Amino acid sequence: MNAVERLQSHHIKPSVQRMAIMKYLMEHRTHPTVDEIYTSLAPEMPTLSKTTVYNTLKLLGEQGAIQVLTIDERNTCYDANTTPHAHFLCKKCNRIYDLMQDACVKNVEIMNEDGHEVQEVHYYYKGICKHCKEEVEKLS
Ligand SMILES: [Zn+2]
Ligand SMILES: [Zn+2]
Repeated sequence: MNAVERLQSHHIKPSVQRMAIMKYLMEHRTHPTVDEIYTSLAPEMPTLSKTTVYNTLKLLGEQGAIQVLTIDERNTCYDANTTPHAHFLCKKCNRIYDLMQDACVKNVEIMNEDGHEVQEVHYYYKGICKHCKEEVEKLS
């Protein structure tokens, strides 16, 4: 599925800016922030504003085309991977990693908790990533 198809399947009209933002997220699975997306796209799109990027991401999130992550309280991050998966935030380098733990990640579609309709499930883990741990071990 390309960016246009992804937008259309979530009932979003594919404007040039929306397509660029969707495409960026599909190509960068590093959970970028608004600033990162804006900084990367702005040189090619002089008319793009940070507000547009923010509003587009908000819309994409509301329509279920992307996942909105609040694991890092300083920055909201965005993920084109909408299948339920856990996230791990390194408190040292602030990188967000995907954790694939099928056993504990429940499928939102089939969840019906006490009659409530669950639409989002977030699994957030925090700690020190393996790369930062290696750095610390090298120094000690
Ligand atoms: Zn780290
Ligand atoms: Zn992710």
